[in-house]
Amino acid sequence: MKRFAIFSAAIALCAGTLFAQKVVAHRGYWTAPGSAQNSIRSLVKADSIGIYGSEFDVWMLADGNLVVNHDRKFKGVHFEMAPMKDVAAITLDNGESVPTLDEYLAEFVKHPKLRLVLEMKSLVDPTREDEMAEKIVAALRKYNLLKRTDIIAFSINACMAFKKLLPIGVPIYYLDGDYTPKKVKSLGLAGMDYSMKALREHPEWVEEAHKHGLEVNVWTADEPEDIQYFIDLGVDYITTNYPERATEMIKAKTGTKSNTKAKKKK
Ligand code: MG
Repeated sequence: MKRFAIFSAAIALCAGTLFAQKVVAHRGYWTAPGSAQNSIRSLVKADSIGIYGSEFDVWMLADGNLVVNHDRKFKGVHFEMAPMKDVAAITLDNGESVPTLDEYLAEFVKHPKLRLVLEMKSLVDPTREDEMAEKIVAALRKYNLLKRTDIIAFSINACMAFKKLLPIGVPIYYLDGDYTPKKVKSLGLAGMDYSMKALREHPEWVEEAHKHGLEVNVWTADEPEDIQYFIDLGVDYITTNYPERATEMIKAKTGTKSNTKAKKKK
């Protein structure tokens, strides 16, 4: 009887590991004390709770420098049109400066269990997007982070630029929510990273994506009912501003420590 109980527990553990969602902190774990969106602290805090990955946003400034921030216009500075000196003068809400991509990746290498989910922000000029993708790939190579990175982008031009530049195995996910799984598959991308709205309108896309060998990430699921809906729908990743809440809910569903350290399939 005891042996059977151990066997059952092992099966449950395997099932949980295989099917549990992985949690991604949206713009880092910025809702933690002392943190701020896309700050170095948000990255450190994401790693401190043992989740799968930490998402962050990258802009290319007018002078070609790459920096980590979400908003196109932030604290009076237009990130696509400003030079580095303007961005360097900004102070984040937690007192940090806006990190350069170089600074961000240098910190990331100190957190080897965490995965990068790098969003390239869309630029007005597609040729600048191509240049930006090249610079991002060069930076990831410099820090030997290609094997620990998922690329995400709203711009299909950016997705295809990355596809030309990256070795097979570095997954690229499309964000804009308007392509079917079949279309995403035909473009050779790894999957869809879609809004809750897009996936609520097309819940069937999750199963379709899986049939095509694609993965599905949802953003940004914060409220418990939303997190539960997407756990039950069977998406692969949940991007959230409340990563500890999502982790606990996944754990409650699977009866395991969930998501976070599950081996990535790709
Ligand atoms: Mg983002």
